Amino acid sequence: MALFYYPFLALATAGLFAVFGIHLAALLGATYPFEHFVMILGPGVFIVWLPTMLVSFRMTRNVKQRDFWRAALRGCPKWMQRVLWILAGYSWIGFFALPLIYGGGMEAPANKARSMSDVLLIFYAIAACVLYSAIQLEKPGKDSFCVNGHRISPLAKHCEECGAPARAKFNPQNLI
Ligand SMILES: [Zn+2]
Repeated sequence: MALFYYPFLALATAGLFAVFGIHLAALLGATYPFEHFVMILGPGVFIVWLPTMLVSFRMTRNVKQRDFWRAALRGCPKWMQRVLWILAGYSWIGFFALPLIYGGGMEAPANKARSMSDVLLIFYAIAACVLYSAIQLEKPGKDSFCVNGHRISPLAKHCEECGAPARAKFNPQNLI
């Protein structure tokens, strides 16, 4: 399965860096990169989000709704998860704050470029992180096991089969 994720991870990562550049340009007042590439980067989100959703549902089976992101991102190193949360916060606040900071209203082309590239940024970032996480978890021994070696659900503290605790490495407290 991991082989199937690689091309989408590559697309999501390329999209992320492209949108990052476009967003920076828009912040500095150059909106033509956004206007030029939105035709590719807009639909591109759907191409990378389809496998991202499929794989995140697979990774979060038997997981409570509130643990969804912790489970989906558990293959990512902590720094990556932190960067993603910071980006998510920036994207959420920026969407509303940027037009106010720059003035001219939501409908102004420059504000559209800034707000929309801000949203594309977090969508590409989530896709890249979830796909990366999935690839890491496909590697042998990366998923959750109890001390007796039974495969357990991602955030379980104890084995459903023998009741033994989860291996310390995969302790839910270590996930984030
Ligand atoms: Zn067990």
